[in-house]
Amino acid sequence: MAKQIQAIRGMNDCLPADTPAWQQVEAKIRQVVASFGYSEIRFPIVESTDLFKRGIGEVTDIVEKEMYTFDDRNGDSLTLRPEGTAVCVRAGNQAGLLYNQEQRLWYMGPMYRHERPQKGRYRQFHQFGIEAFGISDADIDAEVIALSAELWRVFGIEDQVELQLNSLGSNEARADYRSALTEFLVAHETALDEDSRRRMHSNPLRVLDSKNPEVQAVLADAPRLHDYLDEESKQHLSKLCELLDAIGIRYQLNDRLVRGLDYYNRTVFEWVTDSLGAQGTVLAGGRYDGLVEQLGGKATPAVGFAMGIERLVLMLQSLGKLEGLRPAVDAYMVLANDDAAKAGVQVAQRLRQQLPDLRLMMHCGGGKFQKQLKRADKVGAQVALILGQDELENQTITVKWLRQDVPQQTVALSQVVNLLNDLN
Ligand code: ATP
Ligand code: MG
Repeated sequence: MAKQIQAIRGMNDCLPADTPAWQQVEAKIRQVVASFGYSEIRFPIVESTDLFKRGIGEVTDIVEKEMYTFDDRNGDSLTLRPEGTAVCVRAGNQAGLLYNQEQRLWYMGPMYRHERPQKGRYRQFHQFGIEAFGISDADIDAEVIALSAELWRVFGIEDQVELQLNSLGSNEARADYRSALTEFLVAHETALDEDSRRRMHSNPLRVLDSKNPEVQAVLADAPRLHDYLDEESKQHLSKLCELLDAIGIRYQLNDRLVRGLDYYNRTVFEWVTDSLGAQGTVLAGGRYDGLVEQLGGKATPAVGFAMGIERLVLMLQSLGKLEGLRPAVDAYMVLANDDAAKAGVQVAQRLRQQLPDLRLMMHCGGGKFQKQLKRADKVGAQVALILGQDELENQTITVKWLRQDVPQQTVALSQVVNLLNDLN
């Protein structure tokens, strides 16, 4: 027998048993973004490598060690997108959607990062994200956060997530802080790990992000970002906090929160949870007023976030919030013989047209009545629609309830629509 080819490590299939959960999650996301008036944008999965080097920053986990980069047949360096923000900005710039305009956009799709696969961390994963362009006021930061909070409400997990909030300040404030932090890190160099020592000059803020507890212990005495914030950024943050208070969104100010990508300024935030183990961040975002210009557009303020859909699905599963999913089939048509099969196709076609929401599966391949009923049960149908010889002669159909204790009913073909209407 030929050797079976396996999927790439860290890249998962979403099998039929799992797709209803994903469909429900995606449908609720669409409902939330629509209720805020956001428009969907779709962009390619492959982009030029420079986009991410310039957009995300050379000294970041993603660009240093996580990208799927390859030369195409022309020798151009291409990369499977590791995130959506840089791509969204590229697309917006290219189509002239950003400068001097307001755009509220959302996207959803696969992203690629060569990380060590584990629960909640994969090499192909899916993000849903939003990006709001053209507004520098803190009210849009509040809206973006409110939209994320609405997701938790819709999924019934508000009490499972916590909002961490910080301001990185203006670029100048950040530069001042950066020098102070570098000075501190140099003085404590021997206590740092290799990663932190390497980053201490090139990207010292990223050291704050270190997951190494020894590094975190050293950082306890490090200069605080908050002490370096410029006046305008302070005001921006306090306005944001007031707005969040007004909406009733609780947050934890955390001035160690810096985020792993270079493009952020001012507001940064993460929604974290205890229910996922080590991979505790479900959704993360912030303001990135410099990125549009950095990628060749005209300066345009922007704010957004990205959420990991796998992490959300894992959370919903572990909390038992994904029950009552609708199976792929509502009704299964059972056919007595070839004549019934011929008539059945027409009945099914009419029912599908009359009840666009009905999921009606026809039995194919003939066989005994009992076997057909077993299949109806196996595919999860609520009812079997039976076309036997009697039914054919009398222009009727028998509806047999498979999951409720209701006696079966034989009704005129013209009446069956009313019975099935109640199914969905
Ligand atoms: P982490 O610190 O967990 O590596 P990150 O800061 O790299 O996260 P972002 O780039 O901000 O993550 O992406 C936003 C969200 O996308 C994360 O909060 C997470 O939910 C999800 N995510 C990121 N990387 C992965 C991955 N490899 N597998 C699954 N989900 C991921
Ligand atoms: Mg990461």
